[in-house]
Amino acid sequence: MNTLTIDSLELKGKKVLVRCDFNVPLDENLKIRDDKRIVDALPTIKKIIYDGGKLILMSHFGRPKGKVVPEMSLKPVADRLSELLGKKVILAPDCIGDEVKDLVSKMNDGDVVLLENLRFHEEEEAGNEEFAAKLAELGEIYISDAFGVCHRAHASVSIIAKYFDKVASGYLLKNEIEYIGGAMKNPQRPLAAILAGNKISGKIDVIMKLIDISDKIFIGGGIANTMLLAKGIEVGKSLVEADKVDIAREILKKAEIKGTKILLPLDMLCGKEFKNETELKYFDTDKQEKDWIAMGIGEKTVLNYKEELADCKTLIWNGPMSVFEFENFAKETFEIAEIIADYTQNNGLISIIGGGDTAAAVKIAGLDDKYSHVSTGGGAAMEYMEGKKLPGIACLSTKGFDPNRRFLIAGNWKMNKTPRESIKFAKDLEKVMINDDNVEIMVAPVFNSIYPVYSELKKTHIDIGSQDVFWENSGAYTGEVSVKMLKLSGVKYCIIGHSERRQYFGETDETVNKKIKAVLKEGLVPVICVGEMLEQREKGIEKQIVKDQIEGAFAGIELNDYLNVVIAYEPVWAIGTGKTATPEQAQEMHAFIRSILKDIYGNEFSQATRILYGGSLNVQNAKDLLSRPDIDGGLIGGASLKKDDFSKIVEIAKEI
Ligand code: PEP
Repeated sequence: MNTLTIDSLELKGKKVLVRCDFNVPLDENLKIRDDKRIVDALPTIKKIIYDGGKLILMSHFGRPKGKVVPEMSLKPVADRLSELLGKKVILAPDCIGDEVKDLVSKMNDGDVVLLENLRFHEEEEAGNEEFAAKLAELGEIYISDAFGVCHRAHASVSIIAKYFDKVASGYLLKNEIEYIGGAMKNPQRPLAAILAGNKISGKIDVIMKLIDISDKIFIGGGIANTMLLAKGIEVGKSLVEADKVDIAREILKKAEIKGTKILLPLDMLCGKEFKNETELKYFDTDKQEKDWIAMGIGEKTVLNYKEELADCKTLIWNGPMSVFEFENFAKETFEIAEIIADYTQNNGLISIIGGGDTAAAVKIAGLDDKYSHVSTGGGAAMEYMEGKKLPGIACLSTKGFDPNRRFLIAGNWKMNKTPRESIKFAKDLEKVMINDDNVEIMVAPVFNSIYPVYSELKKTHIDIGSQDVFWENSGAYTGEVSVKMLKLSGVKYCIIGHSERRQYFGETDETVNKKIKAVLKEGLVPVICVGEMLEQREKGIEKQIVKDQIEGAFAGIELNDYLNVVIAYEPVWAIGTGKTATPEQAQEMHAFIRSILKDIYGNEFSQATRILYGGSLNVQNAKDLLSRPDIDGGLIGGASLKKDDFSKIVEIAKEI
């Protein structure tokens, strides 16, 4: 069964195994220096305790490399958690084994056990299945709340999920997904990114990605030197990455082509030597003298950035603006931190602080509670921003969910192509289709071509759909095909209630509902078509029609089943006619459909549902339609029959 967040689970009396990231910094006396990661996990922890679950927490700590290292025990975390909760948190002697099992078996509702450091076992980082299975034996529900390690395919992070029927994200992970994922996929604009810190290397992918999606990019820190050099501006003795100057040029070029405004510093704060106690001087960037080292942006730049940030609605900040670890060079980093805090509190800016150094800087500035979101992840936040699929999040989607609403581009071949033509076409598609984590692809051939096409495509990332299905499994139903049969032929998606079936074959909301239930029972994914006729739109009743269709389709369908569905909005007047709904009309209806789903299943689940648009979607209109926030792909007839057009549409989706 599937779920998205902890809210939808019954926790009372259940053993709830939660993966946290309690890898907090310690001082030389093994005292916790910064407990942010513990504090941020508290909402999930408290929810489980208050709901009467038996809470089993697990985490890694430091890098003991598979050995028991007493200084890397989670004892300080257990103590701090006990203090924060006002309740005893028992530290287990290990994370697996009979003693731990025994301890867990004696837990009462609301008790908390923290397992000892997972990385005392080398199997954890190796992603060992047996080790994951042993951990899984301890719980009945698995909650993932360790964003900081979600980019690692470690045993307790991603491998473990498959041993559970019930998996969910905790509140910490949910927040990270909502803020970072939301800004990357569907930001309020203008979207700005501050990219700073010492080096470009390690950040190239994220910069390239942010150029794709941002309206403005502000450059600071050591990165600025390399970027200035790429523009032919001398930077004296400043730190530059000589081997990255060409990449910096490419970055500037890409930004120009994409129309993303890049803001470079107007002036720099320089030092005579790279240390705190040294002579300081501000230079305009084009006038920096040879024997000075730039250590951060200058005052004119702060003012310029302040002005340029004023109209921004979303901001991702990665990397400090100066060498803030040197007190004498920290001022500008802190000023920028203050400006962003002010805009967040007073201007409605959605501010996201990502990356360990930046989080440390805003903490030192005493402003860390003034932003919309300070990520707990360093590397994980970077990879998530690059658009990579993180194993610790993806393992939740293998249970049927996609909190990121990946695009689905689906081709409905209708009654076209013989089996031989279909196989040839599948072979051609295989050659031209890009493989991208953000886009899923499905083709729905005629029934008798399904298996041959599946055989051709089974090793590719292209999935198979059927254009219809019958709800009974077997029997005297001449001419019908059951879900089981389709499943055995390689089908993953079943299109249900296509308007042509409603129009010519007597499909009703009732039969649609029966088909959806049959498809869900077999674990396939229904693609449920809804949409109004032209005269209904002309009468202004299109929303009522679609609402009735949705409510009819989902009658009696439980939340857990609902999580697997895809919806396709297909205005009947646009199908195969060459007429397309305008992007505004389509977006309005998609948002409306989402609001109906919200009323039935709640906000977070409606947000996780993919709603495709169908109706003469083609290469020309794809970008405009697919860029709309509530359009998550396309159900495509005519244009899916031409390999170049279909692959171009996939390419367009990938670029969005
Ligand atoms: C369809 O068959 O679902 C469809 C949308 O067709 P077309 O793209 O040709 O309008």
